[in-house]
Amino acid sequence: MNPDAVWKAPVTAAELADRIEAQSRAALPIREIRTDSLEDYWREWSAIQSTPDGDPLEIYPPVLTDDFTWIQKGEGLLRLPDGSRWILASARLVRQRGREPNAFLRRLHALLLEHERLRRPHAPARTTIVLDADTLDVRRVFCTDCRDWRDLQADAEEADRTLGPWPAGAESRPAG
Ligand SMILES: [Zn+2]
Repeated sequence: MNPDAVWKAPVTAAELADRIEAQSRAALPIREIRTDSLEDYWREWSAIQSTPDGDPLEIYPPVLTDDFTWIQKGEGLLRLPDGSRWILASARLVRQRGREPNAFLRRLHALLLEHERLRRPHAPARTTIVLDADTLDVRRVFCTDCRDWRDLQADAEEADRTLGPWPAGAESRPAG
């Protein structure tokens, strides 16, 4: 099914149940990395990836790579001063295309693909979108590629309006 058909479909009772299941998976207790804001965290992260001349570093400082590896693997989440907890979509939720049995995660994945399509060039959005682990609210996520807060539903609608429907049969991002 095309991504736009997935996110345009009405939310069913089964999907609501799947959402609760996904939330409990996302909110499992794990290492917490405290930060004042997601913007600051990724600003610092990108700063340490470069030399003072702006070239990419070959080797990152180990303490920071530990933090980031935990986040990437879903073994760590970021905790903000307001108590909210944030996880990467790829870490615990969206691993691969196609075969996801959870209807809420299928919708999330479709929205991620639309975000990618709208904002291209863009890294795979499942590796850049950070969600509130307790709510999995798609209307307020942080994108580490865009370096901004986004509303995935609004982005999908904008992509649909400005770029048109997905090519028939395409299940991933269209070429070109
Ligand atoms: Zn983005």
